Amino acid sequence: ERKLLAKLRRDNADLQTLVTTDALTHVENRRSFQDILMHEFKIARRYNQPLSLLALDVDHFKMVNDCHGHPSGDYVLKEFAVILKQSVRESDVVARTGGEEFSILLPKAGPEQAAGLAQRVREAVAQRQFNIYGRTICITTSVGLATYPNDAEITEPDMLAYLADQALLMAKETGRDRVMALCDMPIPTRNRWRLRYEQRDLTGQETVP
Ligand code: GH3
Ligand code: MG
Ligand code: MG
Repeated sequence: ERKLLAKLRRDNADLQTLVTTDALTHVENRRSFQDILMHEFKIARRYNQPLSLLALDVDHFKMVNDCHGHPSGDYVLKEFAVILKQSVRESDVVARTGGEEFSILLPKAGPEQAAGLAQRVREAVAQRQFNIYGRTICITTSVGLATYPNDAEITEPDMLAYLADQALLMAKETGRDRVMALCDMPIPTRNRWRLRYEQRDLTGQETVP
């Protein structure tokens, strides 16, 4: 009976890992990231600590698939996740939140610390040479950054993720391979984004970009 119980515990632990981990890259999956974000946001608010969120998206990733094939694209994504994991602390959370989109949650990190880390990650990605069937390719990544409570309008965890995404879009629009922080945006831009979030929240739908 004791053996059976031990096996059940192991199986449960394995199941837990399966449902929270991204199968391709072995970082947290989107659902798990949302749970962790919710939890860390509560802690940040309760203990008055900063919480930063980086939204990353590989630049022109479709080209990697188109030029080198889908399996090579998968390989690049796996290695991309490794670079992210190697760039952060144990307590930071790396997740694959979309196809070629990743998020990093940085508990207790303020805007300067988070921006420093974002730049280091961006550089590490740009400097990395990916070996694909004897050929070397390079990629870049764009990064959006939002911090609670410095970006004072942030009132809930979803909003932190949304604002980091908007900053990421701005990084894309202004040329890619760069970090955009919400706190560096002009106030009218931030207010506009906040409004869009609130409208989205009310209707339950994405608003037009
Ligand atoms: P941008 O710089 O604007 O982000 O351009 P992009 O090409 O990266 O963006 P786009 O959204 O057009 O393309 C994303 C591509 O990522 C398209 C999709 O086929 C690919 N992709 C998504 N998930 C996976 C995956 O699991 N494996 C592979 N190999 N490709 C994936
Ligand atoms: Mg994308
Ligand atoms: Mg992309």
